[in-house]
Parts: sequence; structure tokens; C-alpha cells
Amino acid sequence: MVVANQKGGVGKTTSTVNLAVALAQGGQRVLVVDLDPQGNASTALAVDHRRGTPSSYDMLVDGMPLADAVQQHPDLPGLFVVPATIDLAGAEIELVSVVARESRLKKALAAYPLIGSQDEDRLDYVLIDCPPSLGLLTLNALVAGVEMLIPIQAEYYALEGLGQLIETVEMVKQHLNHELSISTILITMYDARTNLAAGVAEEVREHFKDQVLRTAIPRSVRVSEAPSYGQSVMTYDPGSPGALSYLEAAREMAIKGASA
Ligand code: ADP
Ligand code: MG
Repeated sequence: MVVANQKGGVGKTTSTVNLAVALAQGGQRVLVVDLDPQGNASTALAVDHRRGTPSSYDMLVDGMPLADAVQQHPDLPGLFVVPATIDLAGAEIELVSVVARESRLKKALAAYPLIGSQDEDRLDYVLIDCPPSLGLLTLNALVAGVEMLIPIQAEYYALEGLGQLIETVEMVKQHLNHELSISTILITMYDARTNLAAGVAEEVREHFKDQVLRTAIPRSVRVSEAPSYGQSVMTYDPGSPGALSYLEAAREMAIKGASA
């Protein structure tokens, strides 16, 4: 599942991290691939991502096997992470001259035996956290994935830029990955006290219909505090409205049968 939206600060990383933890807590086996040079998902999931750590950069640019870059989450046995180091900042440019530059991630995932396998070490979900751009890193994710989750922040400019994102997805579908579909829209940072948020949510639901999860993630300080403790809100404050909403969103996703 590709978590993408070229707008920054809409909740891509927060949603990737919390959905991954929620799914893993529910007994699913989950891999998170951090494709954002800022490495925020790696920080929140408490995996090493200092420069020199085997990472998504090595996988994409140097062809390192996924098995050599993956780390086990320190607390959750079913959660695995390919971290992003700051080296990834150069990858957009370095990839330009690499053979089959847009399908490097697809190749790495395809060669990883636990994806799609049936045994107990299998992976049920792969979540790819994209950077806030439509460059080669996001393109790699769109070529590698089957389903796509677009987080939309419930605020005034929420729908701006979505047209461009959808055009890119259509282009990828036509030329590079026929299987890709926008299966899931998640409304984030929803503030129930404002008419504006309700209006945006309604507009999103009218436009994307069943693709939109019924659960919207409320704006909550607990959600934004959690990463500074190397935690998801799921463990930082499990009873908080943010954690409960991500749990519910993960349930909806599991029911919809999302997997790749
Ligand atoms: P993106 O990955 O799309 O750039 P992030 O997930 O990093 O977005 O979120 C942007 C900022 O908003 C972060 O500081 C994050 O902690 C905060 N944030 C995300 N979701 C929520 C929420 N539900 N409530 C409050 N703050 C949030
Ligand atoms: Mg992010």
C-alpha cells in the first residue's frame, strides 16, 4: 500500500506509522518502507537510521537486497522497517542515471521471499511512506504498489494538488503499473468543532465515495507528541481518540482486504 500525497504535512508519515502499528498489534505482519529522506517514519518506529545504516537508499540506488536493509521493530514482533537515511536526499538525482530507475523498488520487493508467501514468516502488508513530491522516489512507490492510500488533511486547501496526483496515478497505471488503484482515502487532522473541516470532509466523500474510510482521524496533540518519544500514538496513549481512530481505520482497511 503506497501512502502518497505530494503535499507536505497532510499526515502521510503519521498514518503510515500508526496504521502499521495498529495492524501489527492486531497480529498482522507488516513491513514499512521509509522513502522520505527526512526519515520521520524511521524515527517514530524507533529504528536506527543514522547515516551508514543499510537503508532504502542502498536498496534503490545500489541494488542492496531488501533482506539486508530491513530491521525488526524493537517491541512489535510482526513489524519490520526499511529505514530512510539522509543519503536518500540525493537519490532523486542519482536515480536518473540508473537502469530501470522507476522500478527499483518493485524489483527489490519482488525478490523478497516473505512478500506473498504463505508460511508463518509471511508479510501481510507493505506500507510505503512517500516524500512530499512526485519525483522518482514516489514514482518508484507507485510502480511497486497495488493499492494506494491518500491522506487528506481536513483543511481549506485540502483538494488543491489532488488533480495533479490523480493524473500522475493515471499515467503510471497506463504505462508502468496497470494494477495500481486508489483504494483508500483517509481524512486526517479532522477538527470536529469547525464547519470548515466538516465541509471539506463532505466534499472529499462526495468526490471519492466508497474509497474514503468512514473513520476520520481527529486532530490531537497526543498524535503529534508521540514521535518525539520514538513511539506511535498507539503505544504512547492507546486510549486517546487519535489511537482509537487509527485502530478503527486499520480495521476498516483489513475488512476491505487491502494488502500490498
Ligand atoms: P506528512 O508525512 O504528510 O508530511 P506528517 O504525518 O509528518 O505529514 O504530519 C505533519 C505534522 O502534523 C506532524 O507534525 C504531525 O505530528 C502532525 N499531525 C499528523 N496527524 C495529526 C493529528 N491527527 N493530530 C495532530 N497533529 C497531527
Ligand atoms: Mg512524511
